[in-house]
Amino acid sequence: MANHPPRPGSFVPQQNVGVLDSPEEVLSTMTREGKRRWLYPTPSHGKFTRRRRIVAWALILVYLLLPVIPVNGQPAVLLDFIHREFALFGIIFYPTDTLLLMFALILVILTVVFGTALLGRVWCGWACPQTVYLEFVYRPVERLIEGREHVRKRRDEGPWTWDKIWRKTLKISIYLVISLVLAHTFVAYFVGWDHLLAWMTDPPTTHWGFFVMMAFTTALVMFDFTYFREQMCTITCPYARMQSVLLDPDSLIVSYDPNRGEPRAKRSKKKIEMERQGLIPALGDCIDCGACVRTCPTGIDIRDGLQMECIACTQCIDACDAIMDRIEKPRGLIRYTSENALAGKPTRILRPRTVLYSALLLVLGALFVMALTSRGAYDINVGRSVGAPYTILPDERIANRLRFRVRNQTNHPSAFSIEAVAPAGVELRVVGVTPVTLEPGEMKRVETWVIVPPEDFTAGSVDGVFRLNFDDGFSTDATFRLLGPSE
Ligand code: SF4
Ligand code: SF4
Repeated sequence: MANHPPRPGSFVPQQNVGVLDSPEEVLSTMTREGKRRWLYPTPSHGKFTRRRRIVAWALILVYLLLPVIPVNGQPAVLLDFIHREFALFGIIFYPTDTLLLMFALILVILTVVFGTALLGRVWCGWACPQTVYLEFVYRPVERLIEGREHVRKRRDEGPWTWDKIWRKTLKISIYLVISLVLAHTFVAYFVGWDHLLAWMTDPPTTHWGFFVMMAFTTALVMFDFTYFREQMCTITCPYARMQSVLLDPDSLIVSYDPNRGEPRAKRSKKKIEMERQGLIPALGDCIDCGACVRTCPTGIDIRDGLQMECIACTQCIDACDAIMDRIEKPRGLIRYTSENALAGKPTRILRPRTVLYSALLLVLGALFVMALTSRGAYDINVGRSVGAPYTILPDERIANRLRFRVRNQTNHPSAFSIEAVAPAGVELRVVGVTPVTLEPGEMKRVETWVIVPPEDFTAGSVDGVFRLNFDDGFSTDATFRLLGPSE
């Protein structure tokens, strides 16, 4: 009976703890000499793979379109760190929206934590771009050009022949084209599609920085999907490392059912029939065919229990279901389940951590909506310009130089003018042209001189009130303390 011990770092369910008999076991993608073990996972063809393929192509479309399709005049998703502007489905966040951004970030983290507690690594197996592109774009191209797994393995281990050279060259060329598309899409999320288009159509010498950045991003994408592959999930990804704290015995996992499968043994269909007729002692349903291991894109054996390397891709479910059909046993020896269900206990959806997470999500979601809706259409700031606090004019009036900083947070162009309404006798002179025009999201600074008669000051100061009138009918007052002589 083959028995695969859990690997170091594996999250081992209770029933499998006893099988740890080789402390020297290494990562699934590494040989005992510490070299890379190249994986050749065989594709599965069951219902989960079909569903994942549909989801994957829908997501690829979404990933490609999100930085391109406009919502309220901005890309659906824009994370412009250079200009500190962020757009999410029509909501624009500015550097001044620190509170909103903080709420948004906490909400995202909490959603991931909550989702993992309930659904396990559903994100990894179904929606992570790493899995989606590797399993449904790069690997199919590889299979198409280089053939099936055993053929590829034999060719890779053999000498460099013309057949090997042209197939590898063609594959790398197609990978390069796909990687270029991915790199451009990725960069579009951070700079905006309009900038990207302009940079792409100009000669490289005009935008050397962009050219270098794109070459570097393309090289990274190529390295990941051509060489690094599953190691991104098993070695690099921090989310994978947090599974042991995010999952609990009620979380949804892909698991082998040892109660049904053990004791496992290789045997013929004839022997299974004899077991069914009670002619020989019945063994477990697992016939130790290894189909679940051969299909695993991270190279693990699901029968060793829940492991950090398992991305819950469901390929082993489909592979095992096909075997169960063949030996006329019920499907589901490997299935979506929970550790509690495997132990014969009920799976609880409502449990302290899920109740706490959902309560926190509700509270933070409400705070986010409140902060969002209380945010004004225009962000207005008044400050003193650099230089002397005030100037005494020849006619003895006092001049304060103020700077108005106004950002248009609406999704339409706007124009505004400023008037001074207090104290009595105040005069406002704007440096530059008024009304001041603002594109959606644009911020402008307006320099002004505020001139006040000396008798308006009490103990060296007086509150000035300024009215900003926008062409969309919005009007608001801003107050700023003006300084003057104290005598
Ligand atoms: S595919 Fe199913 S029957 Fe075959 S080794 Fe895996 S668990 Fe056992
Ligand atoms: S063990 Fe199964 S679900 Fe987990 S990564 Fe391997 S094939 Fe996918």
